[in-house]
Amino acid sequence: LVRLRARLARSQNALGKGLLTLLSREHLDEDTWEEIEDTLLTADVGVVPTQELVERLRERVRVLGTRTPQELRTLLREELLQLIATDAPRAVNTENGLETPAVVMVVGVNGTGKTTTTGKLARVLVADGKSVVLGAADTFRAAAADQLQTWGERVGARTVRGPEGGDPASIAFDAVKEGIADQADVVLVDTAGRLHTKAGLMDELGKVKRVVEKQAPLDEVLLVLDATTGQNGLVQARVFAEVVDITGIVLTKLDGTAKGGIVVAVQRELGVPVKLIGLGEGPDDLAPFDPEAFVDALIG
Ligand code: GDP
Repeated sequence: LVRLRARLARSQNALGKGLLTLLSREHLDEDTWEEIEDTLLTADVGVVPTQELVERLRERVRVLGTRTPQELRTLLREELLQLIATDAPRAVNTENGLETPAVVMVVGVNGTGKTTTTGKLARVLVADGKSVVLGAADTFRAAAADQLQTWGERVGARTVRGPEGGDPASIAFDAVKEGIADQADVVLVDTAGRLHTKAGLMDELGKVKRVVEKQAPLDEVLLVLDATTGQNGLVQARVFAEVVDITGIVLTKLDGTAKGGIVVAVQRELGVPVKLIGLGEGPDDLAPFDPEAFVDALIG
């Protein structure tokens, strides 16, 4: 966790440092507030949240009068936390308390890190003492099933797969069926994310969802989003949200971008919490999203 924090801090704290430096100027004039806005926008915080944040900061700085660096840091920390706050639970729900395994569907555009995230999540769950079955329902990308199976072998989870180009829904069905037969704790279903047409996507994911729900409740639908794709990622997120009820967001590749503000933007966009973050390609590079740690890494 310490290592992850360090990595997050390395990629992110340009934003926080920039904001703190700007806020520390003796005279906070219009130009400075504009620069603060630009800094937030550059980090992909999004227009509306940026305006809200700056408005609140302006007011609080005005009320405060003179300000020490420590006070400014506290203000900024509180306001950033406020921006990320949500009432919905942050934890991935893998304990439904039922006889059937918890089922988690992982969706998102190809290349965002879906398969990797599914593998890493399996690793976390297995380390937590849970038995996991993986469903390789991404039959569109040729190597996806092999890739998932390799993860499964590495972490100790069985992979249910079908023929290349096969029907994703039938693999999802089999994965849940075997999860039930095995009395597994969790079934993770990796899906294909080709954004060919919205109707096509809806058809495919809808079918996967239906065959899963015939056998067990669907506990989570995690949308994987590549943090480096900015506004594009948000557009994609919107399409997925229209097709299937997303319950949580996984933001990957935060190690490779200073645009951590996307956390704010995507939560606003979808109204669901960021639950996990990806900070690298390795097996240990998936972390629960901890708002306080995130903001601390941001401000440095
Ligand atoms: P999928 O098509 O959505 O299943 O994407 P993959 O899981 O195959 O991931 C695409 C690429 O992104 C791979 O090279 C992964 O190793 C890489 N990747 C996934 N998550 C992360 C992350 O958090 N950070 C970095 N740097 N790379 C990642």
